[in-house]
Amino acid sequence: MQKKRIFVGSYGQMNGIIMQNILKRYFGFTSFRPLQAEIINTILAGKDVLVLMPTGGGKSLCYQVPALMREGTAVVVSPLISLMKDQVEGLVANGIPAAALNSMNNEAENLRIRSACLRGELKLLYISPERLLLELPYLIRDMKISLFAVDEAHCISQWGHDFRPEYAQLGMLRETFPGIPIVALTATADRLTREDIQRQLHLSAPEVFVSSFDRPNLSLDVRRGYQKKDKERVMLDIIARHPNDCGIVYCMSKKTTESVADMLRGHGIVAASYHAGLSSEERDKTQDDFIHDRVQVVCATVAFGMGIDKSDVRFVIHYNLPKSIESFYQEIGRAGRDGLPAETVLFYSLADLVQLSKFAQESGQREINMEKLRRMQEYAESDVCRRRILLNYFGEQTDRDCGNCDVCRNPPQRFDGTVLAQKALSAIVRTGQQASVRTVADILRGNFSPEVVKGHYEALKTFGAGRDVPARDWLDYLMQMLQNGLFEIAYDEGNHLKLTDGGRDVLYNGRTVQLAVVRKEESRPVSRRRKTAARPVTETPLPFGGGVETPSGLSPRGRELFEALRVLRKQLADAQGFPPYIVMSDRVLQNLCDARPTTVEAFGTVSGIGEFKKEKYGKDFVEVIRRFV
Ligand code: ADP
Ligand code: MG
Repeated sequence: MQKKRIFVGSYGQMNGIIMQNILKRYFGFTSFRPLQAEIINTILAGKDVLVLMPTGGGKSLCYQVPALMREGTAVVVSPLISLMKDQVEGLVANGIPAAALNSMNNEAENLRIRSACLRGELKLLYISPERLLLELPYLIRDMKISLFAVDEAHCISQWGHDFRPEYAQLGMLRETFPGIPIVALTATADRLTREDIQRQLHLSAPEVFVSSFDRPNLSLDVRRGYQKKDKERVMLDIIARHPNDCGIVYCMSKKTTESVADMLRGHGIVAASYHAGLSSEERDKTQDDFIHDRVQVVCATVAFGMGIDKSDVRFVIHYNLPKSIESFYQEIGRAGRDGLPAETVLFYSLADLVQLSKFAQESGQREINMEKLRRMQEYAESDVCRRRILLNYFGEQTDRDCGNCDVCRNPPQRFDGTVLAQKALSAIVRTGQQASVRTVADILRGNFSPEVVKGHYEALKTFGAGRDVPARDWLDYLMQMLQNGLFEIAYDEGNHLKLTDGGRDVLYNGRTVQLAVVRKEESRPVSRRRKTAARPVTETPLPFGGGVETPSGLSPRGRELFEALRVLRKQLADAQGFPPYIVMSDRVLQNLCDARPTTVEAFGTVSGIGEFKKEKYGKDFVEVIRRFV
């Protein structure tokens, strides 16, 4: 026993040292993130593993490091060609032999890849589930396999939101290849999906690793009751703060993606729309332009995203309310994968709530979808730390407020809103409870809107009774009253507002109402992009032809350096046909700005620079940095 323990100990230690070396040598990182080392050790011990980590948590390393340590080739099942391409490019850029076998390659290419596999020359092979099944009796049987990784493993579950029937047959891997570890990875953590993945993949007594789902670098912000103009202003403001950074605007409808993209283009921003109504060529082009920093903002429906592993997305805006917290969290998760600060903003309006309720009511799974929407609504309406609500939703308890959401930064102030509530409730009653939110707001404001005229509401006593309150504030107050249970929306009756018992108490029985002050942000004038931005150091134009702002915390001189490095990165990327973030992430650029290495040796010690990148890019980067030191 004694002996064995010593052996295990030193074996483990040796593994630990090798792992560390590989991490630095190939990926340039000096330490593992929480759970990564444990997961790698478990795979090295030959066990099946299920990994649940948020988007951007660092799942890839969990199978890439053991792939480099074990004999043979790791077979990685991935649902999308764009994801495979991204991963393979990232690996190749780090000097790791990897390839993807898929229908986008020509025959000659696939032939080359297959024979490289048979000769054991690849450390990782990415493959789609269909292709894997097809190759099973031939290639997969004949090559030496180190491990199987099933990425985006929630695709195997009916409960997951991206169910892909082709994944369902992967269950045979376990029986066909006894002794080869299978690692399944996903960012979808709910219990049903998790259990389903284990069952469908026939994992044998897998070790399950669940990391924290917190993404502290993402700021959370909800704007309630904003109309088109307000939303535009907020978006332009955010983009003005990020003149060289890309972002995504999620919209509910195809039409909205197009109108928002048009609006942004009208302000000189390079924007494109993306939705299921476009041809697949158009969609691929937009995605490619985004990945290569040729388009700054993509306005998209939920169709956009799963294929995006771009690490430097700096903002995600929800122009409309998402239908569930799962979708919302996955979408904002596409921001700030590199761990640098990123902004997220959610616009929440009653109109969206009404629309989504309608979809949910008409869907096959009415109860579930309504419940999911309610949870989303609770998040948007909450006046406690928003991150707490999110983490709580994913089953994680926290005892601290995050300090990085709008509620923490700007706690709601309350006032006695009884009179306002009475005016609104009285207007609702006087319409015979036959008016929508919009119409009630019009009545209070004294607007002769078509609905007001049609219902002869201008004759009501409450018509214009709230003229002194801006329309946007009325929409906000009405939303709060709904949340306080003073009225309900009859979704099945033209979305008319109906008084509740609580509302009657306010109107007739002297109950008082506390409302939150509507937040007014300092509306900074939106600066159009500065034409006379700091001169780039080289002739290459900045990616979006814009200004000089960069990640926070840099001095003006540091920012100039950051921009110079960004330009160099784009040149190097274009020369190789890689996306810029594959050459180096924003985080690594920032590390370089902090460390300012002036020798190739020192360059190699910066976090995120492995051996391969040191040799390949060291000279060029050091040359630029020297000019700044
Ligand atoms: P996921 O697949 O979980 O969404 P990725 O594997 O794409 O996440 O990793 C997200 C980012 O985190 C990548 O830019 C990756 O280089 C970085 N990363 C992963 N592990 C580490 C680590 N140990 N140290 C520093 N950065 C890391
Ligand atoms: Mg991933």
